[in-house]
Amino acid sequence: MRKDVKSATWVAHAGGAKDESSGGVVPPIQPATTFYRETDYSLHNPENTYVRPHSENVRLAENVIRKLEGAADTLLFPSGMAAIAAAFRWLPSGARVVLQDGIYWGTIKWIQEFCGRRGITLKLVDASDAAALDAACEGGVDLVFVETPSNPWLKVVDIAAAAESAHRNDGILIVDATAATPILSRPLGLGADIVMHSATKAMNGHSDVLGGVLSCRSETEIWEAIRTDRADSGAMMGPFEAWLLLRGMRTLSLRVERMSANAQKLAEYLKDHPAVEGVLYPGLPSDPGHALASQQMQGGYGGLLSVLIKGDMPKALEVAGRLKLFVRATSLGGVESLVEHRYSIESHTGLPQNLLRISVGIEDISDLIEDFGQALGQ
Ligand SMILES: *Cc1c(COP(=O)(O)O)cnc(C)c1O
Repeated sequence: MRKDVKSATWVAHAGGAKDESSGGVVPPIQPATTFYRETDYSLHNPENTYVRPHSENVRLAENVIRKLEGAADTLLFPSGMAAIAAAFRWLPSGARVVLQDGIYWGTIKWIQEFCGRRGITLKLVDASDAAALDAACEGGVDLVFVETPSNPWLKVVDIAAAAESAHRNDGILIVDATAATPILSRPLGLGADIVMHSATKAMNGHSDVLGGVLSCRSETEIWEAIRTDRADSGAMMGPFEAWLLLRGMRTLSLRVERMSANAQKLAEYLKDHPAVEGVLYPGLPSDPGHALASQQMQGGYGGLLSVLIKGDMPKALEVAGRLKLFVRATSLGGVESLVEHRYSIESHTGLPQNLLRISVGIEDISDLIEDFGQALGQ
């Protein structure tokens, strides 16, 4: 397929993937773990030896994501955390890491433990404050890791400024853009060296695949180390998951458009509700991250928002319990709306007890608003 088509066209056509042998308009699943050689011992297909490094289905899904990100190369992993771990494992002991505070707690927990074990200096900083991030990089840094918009605080990080701070101090910048998706934000174009997504979330979008992905701006030595590490350590996505992901991504632009539009309307409704103390969503003009998000995101602000319910923890749990359409479950980015009381999951990280994190799906917005209305008690 022509390489110059727009992203929405590219994803809808799965980057041109078809079944060449049967003529099927979708690619087949190739479950083989090993690939045969001819009588002269040459590989039948020189691209495929063994599935740990070589999978047709993984390659097809990577090809779609690479184009969406404007990346030089893309690597899929069996989970978002496996992608993050791979993005850190190349660091030598004694290295210096700057990490955004208040992001997805699973990321912070793993990085803290990893850096502790390996004797890596770790600085946590509120990266939505560009000056604070710059100060944390001062004196040298190897890796800066930020998440924007962040989960569940919805803070927005200036990617271009973060890249500048990292590069000036001889480090690289990795951006977790899971909540933005490659439809709304292209961190590599703003100077990030690597962009990461949990493909479990909006990228697959149907709450039925665990996956993660890294894409690079250029194929550096660090990238080579990450690629080799994936093959050698075996952090490979399975062919069936890659096939499902490719299928899920065909509707990515449509889903993200609808989720963002729904989230915007829900945030506006909740912001003015008398039973609500506040709404964290960069799409709201009153949000501290709004101006920056408007600059570095296109087409919306994503489907993730947090709402602070007036009252204490029992009140927030009562609202969550009364919701009928929002499924009470962790995760985000699926076609169905979810609600989560984050404090019940991470009580040690200083989250407000009255915070409900909402992942807005693709339902009819009037149903979602009505559901929240009855749960809040109009
Ligand atoms: C879910 C999530 C992850 C971890 O991804 P998994 O696929 O669950 O391993 C990382 N970052 C963010 C922002 C997430 O929401």
